[in-house]
Parts: sequence; structure tokens; C-alpha cells
Amino acid sequence: MELKGKRVLVVGMGRTGVPTANRLHAMGAVVSVTDKGAVGRDEASKLSEGIDLETGSHDRALAGKFDVVVTSPGVPWDGPILQRHRERGAEVISEIELAFRLAPRAWIAITGTNGKSTTTALVGAMMRESGVGAVVCGNIGNAALGEDAIFDPRMKVVAEISSFQLEGVATFRPRVSAILNITPDHMDRHKTMGEYIRLKRRIFELQRGDDVCVLNMDDPETARLAPEVPCRLFPFSANGRLEEGVFVNDGRIVISSRGDTWTAGATRDLRLPGRANLENALAACAIAFSAGADVGAISRALSSFEALEHRLEPVAEVRGVRFINDSKGTNVGSTLKALDGMTGRVAVILGGRDKDQDFTPLADLVRRMGAGVVLIGEAAEKIAVCLKGYEPVVRADGMDDAVRKAAQTAGAGGTVLLSPACASFDMFRDYRDRGDKFRAAVRKLAGEPALTGGRG
Ligand code: ADP
Repeated sequence: MELKGKRVLVVGMGRTGVPTANRLHAMGAVVSVTDKGAVGRDEASKLSEGIDLETGSHDRALAGKFDVVVTSPGVPWDGPILQRHRERGAEVISEIELAFRLAPRAWIAITGTNGKSTTTALVGAMMRESGVGAVVCGNIGNAALGEDAIFDPRMKVVAEISSFQLEGVATFRPRVSAILNITPDHMDRHKTMGEYIRLKRRIFELQRGDDVCVLNMDDPETARLAPEVPCRLFPFSANGRLEEGVFVNDGRIVISSRGDTWTAGATRDLRLPGRANLENALAACAIAFSAGADVGAISRALSSFEALEHRLEPVAEVRGVRFINDSKGTNVGSTLKALDGMTGRVAVILGGRDKDQDFTPLADLVRRMGAGVVLIGEAAEKIAVCLKGYEPVVRADGMDDAVRKAAQTAGAGGTVLLSPACASFDMFRDYRDRGDKFRAAVRKLAGEPALTGGRG
């Protein structure tokens, strides 16, 4: 893709916008950046000299003429700024599409509603353990275009890809793709499940021949896509044996490919907790194996990889109550899986910013488990309506209060789980901030004289 002298507009100045603009500038494009929000001086100073920056509105950007417009994941795909430049003939693409065009090599691309970051990081560890250079990037936190390594032909690009990023792809064809699961999320942006699934499907749509697509056969929406895969299918399942793919047999993780089988490890040796993480581990085996990692390396990485923070992360035990931080549980699907694996008395902290979700499945599971519920944030009322008639449900004011009330509800021997099933932006900077505040609240509680109340 020739960029020299091209007029390029970068919309959004977040984590992707800055490295995208700087990369484009370094390649000789004439770059403008626009962001509707305020941009701090620190942030602005990260842009290379010579890049035009507009903040607080899109007025200047709307008036300009551009050859290419590159969007950040947070920018609405149908919003006026993108629409205007499409009408004027600009090509509008996402940062991941641009990165792929500039470094069109063997990409490993991982999507799904939940488990992307964990699986992507685990695949990166497997590739590195195997002696293959791998650069882990994308939605996991570092934009692909910010990484010089994606231009190094010896490196594999292991990319976490969100539905927002898939909205803006056009030629993206990974060598290995994966869909981990599809359950409702981001309905405020995508409106229907049909649209959300259509976007997820794009990860494999342009794959051909001996490219590989990894799908979760235990997840109904994902398994349903298997007949549509236009390349080699290499699925995984924790429930049943597969002719071709990765599965669990008698507590062993088995890789079966073209008539050969290997054991990559035992499920009991995994350091990642819970059923959801078992699926992530199987997915990672299937992906890394398909990308050329050797089984010994896969096996070593499997038994040493620890959970990422804010994902089912054990925080502490205070006077017999266990505290688990799953602040990254930002949708109903992730919280269902987190709760499903819990035994004993559980009090779950739910709520935050709703994304047009249906909380009924969560309310049903909570009732079946007899779990205690502490509600926070904007979605508290909506969740309370789903839980009508069920006890114990309490409201809390902020994280300290929520942790204290949840601890009282769980009581000694019980577990407090922060897995809010909602976004965090109503009360916190992001999910990390929410998880950090949870940890701090637990520490505070540990310093208090005693828990009062309790459910027995
Ligand atoms: P993502 O990058 O897709 O958000 P993470 O690995 O960061 O995925 O995990 C996000 C949340 O989903 C966490 O709360 C985690 O406990 C939960 N989770 C992880 N893997 C899965 C899975 N395979 N299925 C359902 N929930 C999962």
C-alpha cells in the first residue's frame, strides 16, 4: 500500500490512534488526527511533529478531503464523520486492516466474545516457548501499528481482534483464525445478534486453501459456523472426542491431526482456573499447533501460564472469605461462566454500565445457585427487576460498600466474586481501575476489626 503523499485522516486519539498516526507519518503520508473529546497535553505530545491534531470537535476533519480514513475501534462505524468521507470517496478502514496491508504476512487472529486476551497471551507464550518469534498485539492493549516487529518477516503476528475492529476490515486474511465463543455483547453498537455474528465471521471469510480456522464446538453459535469455513477447520471441544482438532479425553488434552495424536498435558496441571479457561487452553493449543508450534513447547507453556490479572484472579482470603477479581467480566456470558464454576456460598457483585443486555440468564443462574447479589452502578435497577422476588439482593454505594456487603452475605467459608457483567465506565476509568478498587477495598476490609452479620 503506497502512502507517500496520501492525505490520511485518523479518527480517534486513543491507544490505537497515536501509533497509527505516527506510523502513517513515518511512511510519508500527510496525516490529520481528529478526536471529539478533549485530549491531554501528555497524550498530544506523543504525536510526531508535522501531524495536524484537532480536538473537541470534528469540524476541521469534516471539511477536509482525504484519500484514506483510518478509524479507532471506539468510533461508531456509521457515525457522521466516517459517513461523510465515504461519500467523498475516501476509503474507510480500521487500524487492523491497515496493519495487515502494510505487513501482509502470516497473521494469527483471535476473536470471540470472551477469552480473547487470555487465549492470545497464551498463544504468544506457546510460540515463544517454541522458539518462534511472536509479537502479541491488537485489542489486548498495544496497537499492531505501534509494533515495529510486525514488519519483521521472522515474527508471527498474534493479534487479538474485536468485533469493532472487524467492522473495518476489507482484505484481512489471517493464516490462522479463531472464534472462541459468541454470546450477546455490545448490542448498544451492533444492535442485533445477527449483525454481531456477521462481523465475527469476517475473521475467516477471506481464508482459503490450507489456512486454518479454529472454532469452539462446545459453543452453539460458534459451532454453527463450521460448515461456512472456507479453509481447513481445526476445532476444539472440552466435551467430546474430535477426529481432527483438540479435545479432552480422560483428563488429558489431546491434539489430533491428519491421523496422528499427541497429548499436550493434563487438565489438572493447568494453572488457569475454571471451565472457561479450559476452553481457552484448548483453543490456544489448536491455534499454536496450527501455526507451527511444537507439542513439547505447547505443553510447557500450558503448565506454566498463569491467569491474567482481573480475570478470575484470586485476591485474598479475609477471615475465611475468599475474594476473586473478575472485573473483566463485562458481559452476561463471561459472568455466567465465572459463576458456573463456583462452589459453596457465593456473593457476586453485579452492575455498571449496561450495553443493552438481557440479564435474565444471569438472574436464573443466581437463583439456581442461591447466590447472594450486591448491585452497583447504573444497571442496578435493571438487574434488580430481573431478580424480582429473589433474596438476598442488596444495593451498594461504591466499591468499598459493595465489598463489605458481599463479604457479609458470603460469610466465612464463602466466596465474593466481582464479575459485574457490565462495562465499568459509569463509576470507574476502565475495568482495570474497577479491579484495582476492588483489591483496595478488600485490603481495607482486612484491616477492619471484624465482619458483622453473615448468612450462617
Ligand atoms: P476478552 O479479551 O475477550 O475480554 P479475557 O481473557 O480478557 O477476554 O476475559 C474476559 C472475561 O471473560 C473475564 O471475566 C474472564 O473470566 C471471562 N472469560 C475468559 N475466557 C472465557 C471463555 N472462554 N468463555 C467465557 N468467559 C470467559
